[in-house]
Parts: sequence; C-alpha cells; structure tokens
Amino acid sequence: LKPFLLFLGLSAAKLLVESGQNVVVLEARNRVGGRTFTSRNAKVKWVDLGGAYVGPTQNRVLRLSKELGISTYKVNEVERLVHYVKGKSYPFRGAFPPVWNPLTYLDYNNLWRTMDEMGKEIPREAPWKAPHAEEWDRMSMKELIDNICWTKACKRFATLFVNVNVTAEPHEVSALWFLWYVKQCGGTVRIFSTTNGGQERKFLGGSGQISEKIMERLGDRVKLERPVFRIDQSESVKVETLNHETYEAKYVISAIPPSLGIKIHYNPPLPPIRNQLIHRIPLGSVIKCMVYYKEAFWRKMDLCGTMVIEEENSPIGLTLDDTKPDGTVPAIMGFILARKARKLAHLSKDERKQRICEIYAKVLGTDEALHPVHYEEKNWCEEEYSGGCYTVYFPPGIMTQFGKIIRQPVGRIFFAGTETATEWSGYMEGAVQAGERAAREILCEMGKISEADIWKLEPESMDVPAFPITTTFWERNLPSVPGLLKLTFVSTLFSVTAAGLFAYKKGLLPWK
Ligand SMILES: Cc1cc2nc3c(=O)[nH]c(=O)nc-3n(C[C@H](O)[C@H](O)[C@H](O)COP(=O)(O)OP(=O)(O)OC[C@H]3O[C@@H](n4cnc5c(N)ncnc54)[C@H](O)[C@@H]3O)c2cc1C
Repeated sequence: LKPFLLFLGLSAAKLLVESGQNVVVLEARNRVGGRTFTSRNAKVKWVDLGGAYVGPTQNRVLRLSKELGISTYKVNEVERLVHYVKGKSYPFRGAFPPVWNPLTYLDYNNLWRTMDEMGKEIPREAPWKAPHAEEWDRMSMKELIDNICWTKACKRFATLFVNVNVTAEPHEVSALWFLWYVKQCGGTVRIFSTTNGGQERKFLGGSGQISEKIMERLGDRVKLERPVFRIDQSESVKVETLNHETYEAKYVISAIPPSLGIKIHYNPPLPPIRNQLIHRIPLGSVIKCMVYYKEAFWRKMDLCGTMVIEEENSPIGLTLDDTKPDGTVPAIMGFILARKARKLAHLSKDERKQRICEIYAKVLGTDEALHPVHYEEKNWCEEEYSGGCYTVYFPPGIMTQFGKIIRQPVGRIFFAGTETATEWSGYMEGAVQAGERAAREILCEMGKISEADIWKLEPESMDVPAFPITTTFWERNLPSVPGLLKLTFVSTLFSVTAAGLFAYKKGLLPWK
C-alpha cells in the first residue's frame, strides 16, 4: 500500500491514522513542533520559546491537548497591569489601558468599535467576499488608523495593537487582512485579552508537548531531518527530500507556511496564481525574550507582570508573567516586535538582555529588575523553516487577488498550516483546524466521508469556557471625535440661529 504522505501536519496525520490510513510525516528540522518550541534546562525547567498561549474559543487545540494528557494553567493576571507611556507608568485592570482625557477616550472607543463593526462585514472563510473587500484591501492598516483616529495617543496605541497581534507594522499590512485576522479571533477584546482571551492560559510543561506526544503515537511514521525540496505529481505523487530519499504517495498535505513553498520544485509547475501568492505573503518578525529573577518582585508591588509599553526606545512592546504556576522560576516574558526585531537583531544576546532589564526597571519603578538570574531568547527571523513568526501577513492588495486559493488543492496536494484556517488562523488552534480539515478533504476525495463532513463545528471546551464579550450602552453610542465636533458645530449653529431668530422677532436687531 502506498503511503499517504504529509510533510508535517501532525494533527492531520493523527486524524488519518485514526481513520485507518497509512501516513508518513516528513519534517525538515531535527525536532517536531515548528513554530512551537519547548526548550528544557535546569535553570528554567521548561520554556516555550515559540507559540505558548491558549484561551477560550480555541476549542480544537484544547480538545487535542486534553486527549494527549496535557493540562493548562492560567497566566497570572491577579494583580494590576501597567501601561507605560510618555515615561510614566499607569497601573490598571481590564483588557485595555483606561484613558482619562475625554477626547482621547472617544477616539479609543471609536477605534475598537469601528474595527469590530468592519470585521462583522468580513466572512471568516472568504474575506475577499466582504462587501468593501477591494476598497479595504487597497488600504494599509496605517491608512485606516489615520482615517479612524484623531489623537496621537490613539494612533500610537493602534500601532502597538497591530505590532503585538501580527508582528508587523501597520503600513505593511492590508486593512482588509488585519480586520479579518482580528475578527476570526473573536474581535479586538478577545484577541488582546489575557483573562477570557487569547492569552488566558499556557500548557503545563510547554506547548511543544502537543507535537511531541503526537509524534510518540505516530512512531516511526515521523521522519525528522527530511527537508522536502521536490514534489512531482506527473503520475503518482513523488516527494524528494534533501537527504536523497524519495517517497511515493497518493496524496500530500503541505502544512508549511505558504511562503516556504517557494523552496520546493513542482512538476507540473504550480498554477500561476498559487505560484505568485507564495512570493507575496511574508511572515512577521519577533524575538521572544524571557528574563528570570530570584523572586516575582512585581507581585509584591500589586503588579501582575503584564506591561503594555509605548516607548520607541524600549525593545519590548508587551510582557506577561511567565512564572510557573507553582510559583517557581519567576520570570517575565516579553516580545520584541516588528520594526524593533529588525533593528535590534544585530545586538548581542547580553546587550538585548541589558536593554530589556533597563526598561523593566523604569516601568516597574525598581532596580530589582536590573538583576536577572537568567535569560532566554529566540529570534524567529533567523529560522529557515519558519521564515519568521508568528504567522504570514498579507500586504495591501494581495488578499482580494490571491487569497481565495490559499487552501485550494493543487492536483493531489492539499494545504494545511495555520495560515489556511478560518478560526484563530496564525495560532496553534488554526494549525489544528487546518490539519484536521485537510485530512478530511483527503478522506472525502477517497469517498470515505461526504463533503458536508469536511468542515466540522467544534463543541466548546468544558474546562476553558468562553464568557461573552459585552459592550456598554455608552461604548456603543458615544460619538467619535469627528462626530462630537459635528454635534458641537450643529448645536452651536442651532443655538446661534435660534438666538438670532428670537432677537429678530423681539425687534432687538438694529436692521429690523
Ligand atoms: C514567538 C511566537 C509566539 C507565538 N505565540 C503564540 C501563542 O501564544 N499562541 C498561539 O496559539 N500561537 C502562537 N504562535 C504561533 C503558533 O506557534 C503557530 O501559529 C503554529 O505553531 C503554526 O503551526 P503550523 O503547523 O501551521 O506551522 P509550523 O509550526 O510552522 O509547522 C510547519 C512545519 O513544517 C516544517 N517544514 C518547513 N519547510 C519544510 C520542508 N520543506 N520540508 C519538510 N518540512 C518543512 C517546519 O520545520 C515545521 O515543523 C507564536 C509563534 C511564535 C514564533
């Protein structure tokens, strides 16, 4: 029997094996996990240097991890968060930093509301079909931010919001794509929140265990250090690896980031739109950094370890407490994002650590932050078999012209990978959705399941329930800044006209 062949797509392989199929998984690296990577050593016990966080509505990865015996724990958000802006720290609670200036408040409120409302128009599974798809796709997020926001404070925070969520700059990404991305994660609050959001939890022992445990189950079907460089489907499908092996199969699932497809030679060549798509969607830039301390001193200051840092000279944009759930190995996780990952890549590891500790000392207001006991980091920009992280982004103009072929099979090649997902694309959840969907596409092709069974709804996790995200009357109805100006102008005009009419009637005007 010829094997069904997959390069990576561990969740796809698992589903196919459970359906009685024969699979081989070809993995380029000497480890499984790809953009998740749990490193272990005595100093840290274990640390997730890649994808780590999981939260409500990410039901597939929660189901899969539970089945594999991996539990989750809550990221610490008991104490207050800190917003650092213009050189000052402001402790707060909730998903977003509060705003005291009334005009800036209206501006922020209008930004989140507008992004979520625009998102409602965008179909998760086909953003290119949104009623304003072309108009929004021609625009970068920078242009959209400049259109929506009036205050500098709001524009700055919107930039950080883009940096944190997609590790790219607002001018680099299509507005349509970014709005879709936020929408398919459940909106601005769900994507950014720790409690009740995408960063609520971590896997005890590390997210890398998911791939490692699937590999254990698949046994010698998983072959490491097999970078695929040729796929020939002139007759059956033949796949060649760099170490001169050829595998023959009926079907292939390609679960690599789409842009890494340009490293592969195809016979027959890819269709023109797919060939061009894979040249047009780069991955973001991020360095994940963990600073370890003797104790979680921030908790004694009633701070939970989350820092939202708006400061051009700060390497880090966002931090979270990375202390183990039993209180051991106190640590702060921080992301160096987008432009800053590029700018600071030339520094030595020690220099980066020093700069990070300096900003933590400023934000937390204590020199304790200057005395770490250990440091770990991973620059994902240097990873040949990732191309960057967390995920691919679509520059302006690409989604509407090339987007719809992202998961369209090419002959016997089916496409998985988080980029092809319709819920939490860019995340581990998206990778699982995509892998299982691609596996079912093959089962359907073989006549084993019907087309209606390819896309499956996932029941909600009982262990990690999602609480609805609600808005207040004022959040829904307060005017935007231009709305307020218009209102003020109209009411001033009205008052002046009314006063004029009154004066005219009473004969108070000199020319009556
Ligand atoms: C710093 C960082 C933070 C992140 N934070 C989070 C988070 O908190 N929560 C979350 O859910 N997600 C997060 N992510 C994203 C998450 O890790 C990814 O979305 C997810 O792991 C993608 O899985 P995938 O299987 O689609 O792709 P990958 O993990 O990239 O898997 C693709 C695999 O294909 C292999 N490969 C590539 N080319 C070839 C080839 N030619 N031949 C054979 N094999 C090949 C690669 O080695 C890799 O193992 C983060 C990522 C990073 C890097």
